[in-house]
Amino acid sequence: MRAMVMDSFGGPLRVREVADPEPPEGGVVVRVLATGLCRSDWHAWMGHDDDVKTLPHVPGHELAGVVSAVGAGVANWSVGDRVTSPFVEGCGACEWCRSGNAQVCPAQQQPGFTHWGSFAEYVVIHAADTNLVAIPGAVTSEAAASLGCRFATAYRALTGRARVEAGEWVTVVGAGGVGLSAVMIAKAMGAAVIAVDRTAGALDVAKRLGADHVLVADGRDVAAQVHALTGGGSHVAVDAVGGEQACTDSILSLCRRGRHVQVGLLPPLDGQHPRIPMARVIGWELDLLGSHGMAAADYPGMLALIGRGDLRPQDLVERVISLDEAATLLPTLDTASPAGMTMIDPRI
Ligand SMILES: [Zn+2]
Ligand SMILES: [Zn+2]
Repeated sequence: MRAMVMDSFGGPLRVREVADPEPPEGGVVVRVLATGLCRSDWHAWMGHDDDVKTLPHVPGHELAGVVSAVGAGVANWSVGDRVTSPFVEGCGACEWCRSGNAQVCPAQQQPGFTHWGSFAEYVVIHAADTNLVAIPGAVTSEAAASLGCRFATAYRALTGRARVEAGEWVTVVGAGGVGLSAVMIAKAMGAAVIAVDRTAGALDVAKRLGADHVLVADGRDVAAQVHALTGGGSHVAVDAVGGEQACTDSILSLCRRGRHVQVGLLPPLDGQHPRIPMARVIGWELDLLGSHGMAAADYPGMLALIGRGDLRPQDLVERVISLDEAATLLPTLDTASPAGMTMIDPRI
């Protein structure tokens, strides 16, 4: 099969022929029809993710496709099923998986991190009976692929973690794929939304998706502007970037007893963990919540909203590109994130 191969961290990415994968016991092989290009792929390429242990490596963790081979012991899936999966593949056997929380499974695998991912014609999904999700007929493969990481993560961050209620203020710092997803989902939940980003193009998309206010992160005090707009601070704020400044802006933009959700990855830099304004967290009784994807078991509620048209992940997809184009684009993702989501079709 053709795949985008990483031979060294931070080095050139090349599209070349590699061996087709075989289905493992309990797992399947999926023929990839669409796979999203996400900032986490950039982290993996940079060597920030400890899960990427061996090279060469194939990135890619947001995917939709068709089951092409089924391993021994898979009960619920057959060749030809159109499927997606969360980027966290739970083992299916531990107490966390059995309670519906595969997103924190201690034995989890992640395509594009712990094993070869979906920037290829075929990808392996482990523990298929736990991790595969059938794609309803009305949902396109591009829209379904967007769910695997960024959209589902934003959905769970706001619903399962922050428990946003209608009428609350939600501030979203970072209007990339996960941030724009959060804007769309928060609006659908009846919240008032402030989107923050460095680039005007991203904020234009946020406005189109319903953001009530947009703020350019241009060095001015983001938190002070949020407090002025909301009359005392936001009830919920999301760091959808993963950066010390974004995290700080998110926390300081909250009202007293507000809830911060950390969605963007914040790996330690040079061994140093990010500085967090803990004095404010204590004095204002803020909640700091982590959010890590979403288990396949939680997909039906989200898919029902998509089926009804209340959520439209397809509106976040701005372009569909080839593996070769993606190999050029991926290394620039930290500085030149294009507006909206980028999907790869490995067949073109
Ligand atoms: Zn498990
Ligand atoms: Zn991702």
